[in-house]
Amino acid sequence: MSRRKFITNTFLGSIATSSIGFNLNDSNLKKFSVPRIISTWNHGLGANKVAWTNLKDGKGGLTAVEQGVRVSEDDPNERSVGLGGLPDRKGNVTLDACIMDKNNDCGAVSFLQNIKNPISVARLVMEKTPHVMLTGKGAYDFAIEQGFKSENLLTEKSKEDWLKWLEKSNYKPTINIENHDTISMLLIDSNRDIFGACTTSGAAWKIHGRVGDSPIIGAGLFLDNDVGAAAATGLGEAVIRTAGSAMVVEIMRQGASPLEACKEVVNRISKIHRNRPEWEYLQVGFIALNKNGEHAGYSLKKGFNYALKDDENEKMIDANFKIK
Ligand code: ASP
Repeated sequence: MSRRKFITNTFLGSIATSSIGFNLNDSNLKKFSVPRIISTWNHGLGANKVAWTNLKDGKGGLTAVEQGVRVSEDDPNERSVGLGGLPDRKGNVTLDACIMDKNNDCGAVSFLQNIKNPISVARLVMEKTPHVMLTGKGAYDFAIEQGFKSENLLTEKSKEDWLKWLEKSNYKPTINIENHDTISMLLIDSNRDIFGACTTSGAAWKIHGRVGDSPIIGAGLFLDNDVGAAAATGLGEAVIRTAGSAMVVEIMRQGASPLEACKEVVNRISKIHRNRPEWEYLQVGFIALNKNGEHAGYSLKKGFNYALKDDENEKMIDANFKIK
């Protein structure tokens, strides 16, 4: 039995009724434009642009996603990524990031402080160590050894916001664009090889030492070059509880479209969090891309968007959502 047929035949559950499915026949391959890049939130537009230039300059998909998300890491006005990220409740900016390539090679850093570009450190963890993730002081020491500069990432603006937060010290992350803007980028190149990157300063006002979904391969980001890729933004704990991005990819493997797969995982998150205290402020969003170049975004609540770049498009897309 051919692999394609096997995938179709093992297509499970309710999604089995879909007509969209994962179907790599020749007409579909022509229909969907590659290369193609999608990234979470508004800052995805600028990040996509740089990733696209890198790709067109022949730098390869991995460098493209790395350089793309660095745009957000470098921007002090992006308050959830890199320099200027909102700190934890002790006033420390702590960063999480991961990167993954078409061969399932991956690297990550978590709880990294004073290094502006965690995504590049994550890439070096992947390329220069036998490990997947370095954390905290160990990640910092590794970055310094590799020539990264130590710098203060707490900008005056973020410090001001933190001091204001301390007055009430109420941990209730604000949903959507105001607060959850991890950048996750997924890229399919002209050979239909897939790459991904994800970087964040995590939830503002978190407990010192907290690590979210974003540096965890399978939670904040996952790809399988035979199937597609997915990435998450939003409340990391909810994404980890459901192995979010890996699950989206597995559901696509069973035949679901990117949209169907994102929806299925958001539904699971919704079900298991309905009676939890964080339900009130819970937001999660996924983006997904399959081997055809089909893409989608879907979130629990209204307000999530993602940026698309390909030969014809450079635009924001409002994601579908479950709850208004
Ligand atoms: N997923 C990130 C985290 O929980 C937050 C975000 O997407 O803004 O750390």
